Amino acid sequence: MTGSQQDGAVRIAIIGGGVAGLTAAYELAGAGNAQVHIFENGPELGGLAAGFRGRESWAWPLEKFYHHLFTNDYDIMRLTETIDAGDLLEIHRPSTVMHHRGANYPLDSPTHMLRFPHLSMAHKLRMGMVLAYLKYHPRPPWRAFDRLLADEWLARWMGETAYGKLWQPMLEGKFGPHFQDVNLAWFWARVYKRTPRLGYYRGGFQAFVDRLGAGARARGGTSGAHAPGRAGRPRARGALRSRRMRRCGR
Ligand SMILES: Cc1cc2nc3c(=O)[nH]c(=O)nc-3n(C[C@H](O)[C@H](O)[C@H](O)COP(=O)(O)OP(=O)(O)OC[C@H]3O[C@@H](n4cnc5c(N)ncnc54)[C@H](O)[C@@H]3O)c2cc1C
Repeated sequence: MTGSQQDGAVRIAIIGGGVAGLTAAYELAGAGNAQVHIFENGPELGGLAAGFRGRESWAWPLEKFYHHLFTNDYDIMRLTETIDAGDLLEIHRPSTVMHHRGANYPLDSPTHMLRFPHLSMAHKLRMGMVLAYLKYHPRPPWRAFDRLLADEWLARWMGETAYGKLWQPMLEGKFGPHFQDVNLAWFWARVYKRTPRLGYYRGGFQAFVDRLGAGARARGGTSGAHAPGRAGRPRARGALRSRRMRRCGR
């Protein structure tokens, strides 16, 4: 984000129209005496949270990536209410299952874990203690977790058997050949933040993005895509190299 002052109003350029850029635009446009413009390189706003329509007849855009909110994601829940998108938000308790040896096993609660038939009680208790440590540690040492590898740490503390049967397949499914490079902080965050109930927007996250963009525009900001302008590509030490881009303005 960069800003300059002219005629009393602070002119602010926000590079990137993902959720972070749109939220910054919404907040800054509401702060008063500021002209806020979002410069977005892509064909639409929303960044990773955007959706797409394969056909005009689709009632909803399909998300490029699957998204949900945890019920303890308080900041985005508050923002959702502030931008009058509360009517879009639905909370559900989806069934989360692990596919193992041709059958599906729900594993989203301690009871379900204890019922899992392919681990001994000793393995399950050891795994439960490790998960409890990650979830309920009052002051989680996540900075230290950032320097540890999930694959090594989990195999060591959960044991090869529980890790190999339940967690390694999940890491491999998500990260493919890079699963051994994932740090423990990533895994910890999945366990620590996870809530059984999850939030979804009717119309997908694209609907939320649209309301956020509309909210920023209503406050006097400009946002959108498809208009020509200039932007920069990040270089070493934060310098920007200028190049043609799409300027957001509507
Ligand atoms: C597979 C997947 C699943 C996820 N699931 C969830 C989930 O369930 N729940 C959740 O809360 N989060 C989830 N996330 C994370 C979430 O999508 C991101 O944290 C969030 O969308 C990031 O928003 P952002 O604005 O910071 O960045 P981005 O969404 O990356 O937006 C950055 C924008 O800047 C633009 N840009 C980049 N460089 C330039 C430039 N030089 N000039 C102009 N524009 C530029 C890009 O085109 C883009 O539109 C998931 C992410 C992925 C990949």
